[in-house]
Amino acid sequence: MTALLEIDLGAIAANWRQLAAMHPGETAAVLKADAYGLGAARLAPVLAKAGCKTFFTAHLDEAVALREILPTARIAALNGLFPHAAADFYEHNITPVLGSLRDIALWHAEAAGLGRPLPCMLHLEMGMNRLGLTARELETLRANPTLLDGVQVDVALTHLVAADAPDDPVNRSQAMAFYEAARQFPGAKKSLANSSGMFLGPFFHTNLARPGAALYGVNPTPAHPNPMRGVVRLTAPILQIHDVAPGETVGYSGVWRAERPSRIATLGVGYADGYHRALTNTAHAYFDDTPIPLVGRVSMDLTTFDVTDVPATPGDTLTLLGPRHGVDALATEAKTNGYEILTSLGRRFKRQYIGA
Ligand SMILES: *Cc1c(COP(=O)(O)O)cnc(C)c1O
Repeated sequence: MTALLEIDLGAIAANWRQLAAMHPGETAAVLKADAYGLGAARLAPVLAKAGCKTFFTAHLDEAVALREILPTARIAALNGLFPHAAADFYEHNITPVLGSLRDIALWHAEAAGLGRPLPCMLHLEMGMNRLGLTARELETLRANPTLLDGVQVDVALTHLVAADAPDDPVNRSQAMAFYEAARQFPGAKKSLANSSGMFLGPFFHTNLARPGAALYGVNPTPAHPNPMRGVVRLTAPILQIHDVAPGETVGYSGVWRAERPSRIATLGVGYADGYHRALTNTAHAYFDDTPIPLVGRVSMDLTTFDVTDVPATPGDTLTLLGPRHGVDALATEAKTNGYEILTSLGRRFKRQYIGA
């Protein structure tokens, strides 16, 4: 008896259409980390059918796997080029997102070898200090335009530092700096917003938006009700129910102690399934419409819930993620974010794709 993870492809397509309708530019889909753990191979055709034409991954390998499924879409790998990889990018028609002068030199050399210009995107560093061309590197390019010979810059992009905090003035100053820097590449489209960035208003709407999390139901506007549809539901059957007397403890190290005669339900889900250990004594599941507290420590393969107040019996299911308790709610309980909840969802769950 294993847990069931239902992934609603129809809701994902509807989320993409909703985001695409928010602005006049193109809307891509970010499918890195196996589409935030939900299965890029299953989601990609659904998003393509909804009208998505540009897909982002982090790694070349992810992009190559996607190419098998999407023969004609534009697929770009965010993490950049690395030595000896340019030929693979070219061969699989993957657009590299170049983020350094070294990346540009590698793509330039590939283009020179082939005798034809090669498309790419440029990542401009604007405050994250992770990836991207710095102001100094842009200055070097300005002074040496031949470095870009054969390097056809289709898109200039940057990634917002604090898109989920709409009141943070860094957003507007970053956007202004980006628009100024992007003028160096007049033939390139501009790409600024991730999911949350799309909700910052028209000033942040560029030629190409890059939502990921919002497609998968994570709230892009944390201070407000979630405008997106939830896309996952995780249910698990109760393996056993134990009657526990007052004073007895449950689970490792006895971190929960019964204060009344209690009925404790055990589920076959644990931290090895991405049901984080930080949820110990904190999380909730649902029995129909009733919230049920998690009691005791989350262990590798098992978790325990107090079902004293509901008529649950072994074989009944509890809902760990669903409409009443979505990824953001569970993330708050686990002191993380919805992204980490999604990307750590376990491989042992039976996965069912619905709504397609
Ligand atoms: C992950 C990522 C995105 C998508 O971000 P979400 O917050 O999931 O919408 C967009 N752009 C870049 C550069 C990213 O790394």
